[in-house]
Amino acid sequence: MSKETHAFNAEITDLLGLIINTFYSHREVFLREIISNASDALDKRKFEDMSSGESTTGDMKIQIIPCRDANQLIIRDTGIGMTKADLISFLGTIARSGTRAFMEAVSAGATDMSLIGQFGVGFFSAYLAADKVKVVSKHDKDEAHAWESEAGGEFTVRPATPEEDGDNILERGTSIVLSLKDDMEEYLSEDRIKELVKKHSQFVSYPIELLIEKEIDVEEKVEEEEEKKEDEEKKEGEEEEEEKKDDIEVEEGSEEEEEKKPKTKTVKKKVEEFERLNTQAAIWTRRPEEVTEEEYKEFFKTLGSEWDEPLAWKHFHFEGSLEFSAILYIPKRAPFDLFDSKKKRNNIKLYVRRVFIMDDCEELCPDWLSFVRGIVDSEDLPLNISRETLQKNASMNTIRKNLIKKVIELFKEVAEDDDKFKTFYEQFGKNVKLGIHEDGDSRKKLSSLLRFKSTESPDDLTSLDDYVTRMKDKQEKIYFIAGESIESIAHSPFVERLQTKGLEVLFCTEAIDEYCIQSLKDFEGKEFQNITKEGLVLPEEEDEKTKREELAKKAESLCEYMKGVLGSKVEGVKCSDRLVDSPVVIVTAEYGWSANLTRIMRNQAL
Ligand code: ADP
Ligand code: MG
Repeated sequence: MSKETHAFNAEITDLLGLIINTFYSHREVFLREIISNASDALDKRKFEDMSSGESTTGDMKIQIIPCRDANQLIIRDTGIGMTKADLISFLGTIARSGTRAFMEAVSAGATDMSLIGQFGVGFFSAYLAADKVKVVSKHDKDEAHAWESEAGGEFTVRPATPEEDGDNILERGTSIVLSLKDDMEEYLSEDRIKELVKKHSQFVSYPIELLIEKEIDVEEKVEEEEEKKEDEEKKEGEEEEEEKKDDIEVEEGSEEEEEKKPKTKTVKKKVEEFERLNTQAAIWTRRPEEVTEEEYKEFFKTLGSEWDEPLAWKHFHFEGSLEFSAILYIPKRAPFDLFDSKKKRNNIKLYVRRVFIMDDCEELCPDWLSFVRGIVDSEDLPLNISRETLQKNASMNTIRKNLIKKVIELFKEVAEDDDKFKTFYEQFGKNVKLGIHEDGDSRKKLSSLLRFKSTESPDDLTSLDDYVTRMKDKQEKIYFIAGESIESIAHSPFVERLQTKGLEVLFCTEAIDEYCIQSLKDFEGKEFQNITKEGLVLPEEEDEKTKREELAKKAESLCEYMKGVLGSKVEGVKCSDRLVDSPVVIVTAEYGWSANLTRIMRNQAL
């Protein structure tokens, strides 16, 4: 018997130390995380079976078994299971990008344990409730293996054996055996488990069953010969079955029994049986007006280990050239890895006629909407669709277009509520800008969502619509200045002249702002003008114009002289009317990079 000992990846060791040695509330999240892994494993199995042409059997479920005598809680799933190598890498040696980020967020008080799943290390939340965890798993035709650990830096893996692992060895799938800490008996309680499953896992699309103990009345004969008694017991066993199915029937049955055998007594017997805890039909198949707000919020939490409530959502059925249903959510908080290029591309699950097909389907949703969570269930796609065939599928394009359209509608609904929109823009303003930059079709629609601070509104964000209503009579352009911070641009010499003329200047301080504005080019026909660039023309009266031209003439020789001194360091020296108090400014070429963009590019190159 080969039992191997492996060291956890160093970051996971640290994480486990944090989980075990710190006091946390929300310990209960472990159950949600383990059920969510079970559900993922069932999804993967379904997909694998389908791709290989095998029909998935009906035996797809998650079972929760409290073992009160052993102080253990077992969670089983008939999902994809793990090979020995999977157990070693997925549950211990592979570094995961979220580990460090999660520990930092927890230490800084920015998050609590409940968000562990979002950081991709949900499994380890098992140690919130257990001091020892065993995972017995079997993938496809491989042998079953058992992974065990009491945390503390290492884990072991060995082939599973009937003696040691008994019923935990499944034909296919995984058993997680949690040896609960001393003060965690609450997680063996039927009521508590039911409460937690209802709260966090009720929308899991596979049956979640709990092994419950039930007391039932059984009729027993008072005096009996040995042989007859055995017979009876057999019969009573059958009756128990009956009784479980239907109480009324049993009553009728027992009356008959009494007639035939008058000498019986009623005794209480304990039986164990599985009770299904989640019974809801897929929420997205229901009509929006029949789903409560509470249900939408709960469903959201099941989508991505979210603890928070969603900020807003949209549930719709699309019928046209094709048919699909979708529920899309905007979270309240951006995920920690929102702009991490290595992470998942989106958070929308694809279903085909209620069957889960895949996560993270690239064709479904553009990168700039990666923060939107939800599900899409198509009536038209073939069930055996794969990532490769998806790319060529014309329906996907229609679904994608309509999802984007609906998401933008949702953004606009959010914009009607100031508080909500403030949260939205703080968290996802960058995504809106990215959308404008990358998505030509959505650009115009998204532009009304843009907000900037400005010379007229230095403390609060203002919209382009509002800017336009404040534009001066002869003003044709929307002026903006881009830089690292408000402080660095608000008092820049570039702004002087515009301010004295009462022309509002937008402050663009995010790296993406200039790209976004460059892609947008104009807003309602009003072009954007970067005031640090050459070619700035300000609206002026006739007399102002005459004066400017006179001054320019006078300064001609000075400009020539300066150009002579500066030589090739500058393109040219010009007299302009953009300044009030400052003697000179350096402007950049109209069609070249601005100084701000040059700075950004330089930083990115580092
Ligand atoms: P995540 O679910 O975000 O990937 P977890 O820490 O919850 O992170 O789980 C780590 C990995 O362990 C999963 O990605 C999966 O590969 C594997 N795993 C965990 N539980 C199961 C299970 N019940 N069946 C199959 N694989 C599992
Ligand atoms: Mg997980």
